Parts: sequence; C-alpha cells; structure tokens
Amino acid sequence: MSPDPIKSPTPPESRRKPTMLVRLVYASRAAEPVGAEVMNAILRHSRQHNPAHGITGVLCCSGGVFLQALEGSRAAVNRLYARIVADARHREIELLAYESIVERRFAGWAMGQVPLSRLNPALLLKYSASAALDPFGVPGAVSLALLDELAATASIVGQL
Ligand code: FAD
Repeated sequence: MSPDPIKSPTPPESRRKPTMLVRLVYASRAAEPVGAEVMNAILRHSRQHNPAHGITGVLCCSGGVFLQALEGSRAAVNRLYARIVADARHREIELLAYESIVERRFAGWAMGQVPLSRLNPALLLKYSASAALDPFGVPGAVSLALLDELAATASIVGQL
C-alpha cells in the first residue's frame, strides 16, 4: 500500500529542491547626470543590503549609462531587480541577460564598481562599434564579456 501523502515525513535535506543561482544583467540610462554623490549612495546602499540577501555583482556607469550584473538565488535576484526597476534615478531599463548559473563570476563583490579610468576607449572599442559604453547596442553576451574582462584584469574595485 502506498503511503498517505498527507502523513509523509518532510523530505531529508538531500532531497529538498536546491536553491537555484541566477545571473541577471541589465542596462539603463540615468535620469540625471550621475555625480559621485549619487554613485556613492547607490554603492553604499548595495554594499549594506546585498550581503544579507546573498547578492553579488558589479555596476558600471559611464556617459549616463548604467550596466549592472546581479548574481544570487533566483528569488533574491528577482526581488532586488523589481526594486531597482522602480528606482527613479534611472529609466529605459533593459534586461540584457538572465540565466541560471553553476557558479558566480563576481563572488568577490557585494557590489563592485568599475572606475571610469578602467573603462578606457581601447577596451570599449574591443566590444562595440564606438568607444562608448553602449550595452543597448550589443548582445547581452557581449556586455557580459566586457564585465568578465574587467574582473579578469582587476578593474573592479570594492572587493569583499
Ligand atoms: P528603503 O526605503 O531604503 O527601505 C525600505 C525597506 O526595505 C527597509 O526596511 C529596508 O531595510 C528594506 N530594504 C532596502 N533595500 C533592500 C534590499 N536590497 N533587499 C531587501 N530589503 C531591502 N540597491 C540594492 O540594495 N542593491 C543593488 O545592487 C542596487 N543597485 C542599484 C543600481 C542602480 C543603477 C540604481 C539606480 C539603484 C540600485 N539600488 C540597489 C538601489 C535600489 O534601486 C533601491 O533604491 C534600494 O533597494 C532601496 O529601495 P527602497 O527605497 O524601496 O528602500
């Protein structure tokens, strides 16, 4: 006789659904010119709240364009993205990539920042038609390749 499903015991830890890791990449345009004060406020808030939610990532801003990667559990990333989309400091938010991942690429950063000096024309030209940060004009995979190269060349600051 099969067991009564209502009386079945809770499955052991090993049989529970694993937490799924995802990476989300989006681009947006700043609503106002982004000064150091705005950037620092965003980074301060991110570094204060992201660790508690298991979020890591990187944020670039150049010429009024934001490019951000968020990594963490699917639920935490989705919740944070909903908050970010509602933020009046930016607009034209475009989801570039969303995928489940086996491991993080930006595990070392609660929210890393790329200093403008590291977004140099040669690097930007490598990944797009002009020497400007233009995630809207290239596939999401290309923006991710740019973020990867920035991580690989120690161009992301604010390590945990
Ligand atoms: P508040 O009014 O500050 O707080 C309301 C309540 O929500 C409080 O109880 C607070 O403790 C709680 N809360 C605040 N933040 C979080 C959170 N992240 N998760 C769960 N509870 C929270 N914010 C980030 O946290 N991480 C980022 O990586 C991030 N990246 C950003 C990138 C850009 C380009 C921009 C423009 C903003 C980014 N922000 C980020 C800020 C984000 O958009 C919200 O401003 C921020 O999460 C605060 O939201 P709020 O004003 O609703 O919360």
